Amino acid sequence: MELAFAAPLGLVIGSFLNVVTYRVPRGESIVSPGSRCPGCGEAIRPFDNVPVLSWVLLRGRCRGCGARISPRYPLVELVTGAVFAAVVLADGLNARLALELPFAAMLIAVAGIDLEHRIVPNRILLPVALWGVGAAAVVRTSALPELLAAGAGAFAFLLIAALIHPRGMGMGDVKLAGVMGLYLGVSVIPALFLGFLSGSVVGVAMLARDGSAGRKKGVPFAPFLALGGIAALIAGPSLIHLYTHNFL
Ligand SMILES: [Zn+2]
Repeated sequence: MELAFAAPLGLVIGSFLNVVTYRVPRGESIVSPGSRCPGCGEAIRPFDNVPVLSWVLLRGRCRGCGARISPRYPLVELVTGAVFAAVVLADGLNARLALELPFAAMLIAVAGIDLEHRIVPNRILLPVALWGVGAAAVVRTSALPELLAAGAGAFAFLLIAALIHPRGMGMGDVKLAGVMGLYLGVSVIPALFLGFLSGSVVGVAMLARDGSAGRKKGVPFAPFLALGGIAALIAGPSLIHLYTHNFL
């Protein structure tokens, strides 16, 4: 029942996130016009816009001109479907999903945009931050002080890290960490920990592979923060429980 709701919703939202990821960094509207083939500019018919399925049936090509459609589009749809399913399985069908699902969707979009453009757009962070505070005031009223404190704390922590190590992080990452705190509360601690850990591992691996060229290019950090955020969203309370039980 939960899966039957969450997975298809995730696929459809994933399709929307592809639009967001493509258009927001280019300053385009996310509502109109409808999806078009990047090759021939032909409007994509609803029948050819079914998440994952259309891409597979059309073998990753536009029906009109045969231009290749990147596998990244069905991949984002599949990832969003899987993440939505995992979130709903972890927390059940309840009002908190009004916070958790938009938060997960935002992390996926921001990761994709940062990978391609090396930016974390305010046009995404700001509305998601406002939604987080507004919706939390309704569905997580008693947790609101914790969420606001975690948002401020995570923002301050990354700001200090960015000032000490300016090459590794931008203000976009700092603001993203603040928004993560607003949604995760105290679970933002394992989220940031996982983000720094995975980012360091990949950063060191890329440095080993590419040498100084890799250092110049830098590694976008938001995808790792997003990874930590999604892990904490799904397993945050149990991660904290594990830690306090074993180390405190
Ligand atoms: Zn085309």
